[in-house]
Amino acid sequence: MNIFMKRANELKEELVQTRRELHSIPEIMTELPLTTKYVKEKLVEIGLEPKEIIKSGLVATIGGKKPGKTILLRADMDALDMREESGLDFASKTQYAHTCGHDLHTTILLGAAKMLKEREDEIEGTVKLMFQPGEEYFIGAKAMIDAGVLENPKVDAALGMHVMLNGPVGSIGYQHGYTLSSVDGFKITIKGKGCHGAMPEKGIDPINVGVHIYLALQELISREVSAFDNAIITLGQFAAGTVANIIPDTCVLQGTMRTYGKELREYLLNRMQEVIDLTCKTYRASFEYEVLSDVPSLYTNPELLDEMLGYIDEMGEDFTLIKDSRATPTDDFAFISERIPSAHFQFNCKVQDERGAFPQHHPKVVFDENVLPIGAAVNAQCAFNWLKNNK
Ligand SMILES: [Zn+2]
Ligand SMILES: [Zn+2]
Repeated sequence: MNIFMKRANELKEELVQTRRELHSIPEIMTELPLTTKYVKEKLVEIGLEPKEIIKSGLVATIGGKKPGKTILLRADMDALDMREESGLDFASKTQYAHTCGHDLHTTILLGAAKMLKEREDEIEGTVKLMFQPGEEYFIGAKAMIDAGVLENPKVDAALGMHVMLNGPVGSIGYQHGYTLSSVDGFKITIKGKGCHGAMPEKGIDPINVGVHIYLALQELISREVSAFDNAIITLGQFAAGTVANIIPDTCVLQGTMRTYGKELREYLLNRMQEVIDLTCKTYRASFEYEVLSDVPSLYTNPELLDEMLGYIDEMGEDFTLIKDSRATPTDDFAFISERIPSAHFQFNCKVQDERGAFPQHHPKVVFDENVLPIGAAVNAQCAFNWLKNNK
């Protein structure tokens, strides 16, 4: 059996314990004091020297005794602003919930760290561990990049992951090229002129403008995006007015645009601006456009991914590897993949009975913890072997 898989199986109980402890103390955004303290202590226990390079953002390195390159392994640690209703006995003790599975990511990376530290003398280069806050709001990875996570030592390759519920434990999804969608969240405030509903000519009706913008944005998808491309524009909020006989001053539209790849994203963002601007002009209104989020599509470097798949194959485990696992939820690991050749794996862990009925971000979601040793072993295996073969 593969050395890392064997060791990860031995560590399974410990990993489950760690995951349950993390699961019970979820925190959100970039304020993760309990989680950060917990992870820091675990890293010190392993024998590492974690540095908090931004608030609730930890970095630690393993190896560096033999010359070589640097590979980054990354986990996110934040939870969601929602109550947990899983009924698990280690459920959240805070007002937040680990319904995306970042507690599993953190545990997996701690497991990989422990195994790599045990083989530190054999590592030909450096493994850099990155534990980030603020993934759900797409702010953590960027903040850590700005704080220098990719420098000193300079990172040459990166590996990201997400647990998914598309299959049982042992199935691992991957995608060459654009893997997860970009996210452009926006808020459009249309400014008209309020007046009596019986005298519309005295005002400028922002609801009318909003309706035209709504339809025009949907037509960008149906009339300007090729059937071979993928894009979504969803307007999740359309808010205006209070009563039947008053034309309001403003109408607010909030939405999200998702796509894959740079070109189409830029094209649609430009066209959205044109459509909003010209529609407002047509109907004599003005507008304000606010960017709510701005994340590129996560790009998996095809050559690096193939190399990593080779190392997984060498493990000789009975994994089911699922290609073309492109997904729409995003991951701010995308900011790293924009700068460094990166690979990304989706570790499936759907519980195979009625408890597995709930999706991620649902208050009742549960994850199969058997994914923990597999995730840890794959991370360790890929990092160790990539360094060995890319001196
Ligand atoms: Zn999430
Ligand atoms: Zn997530």
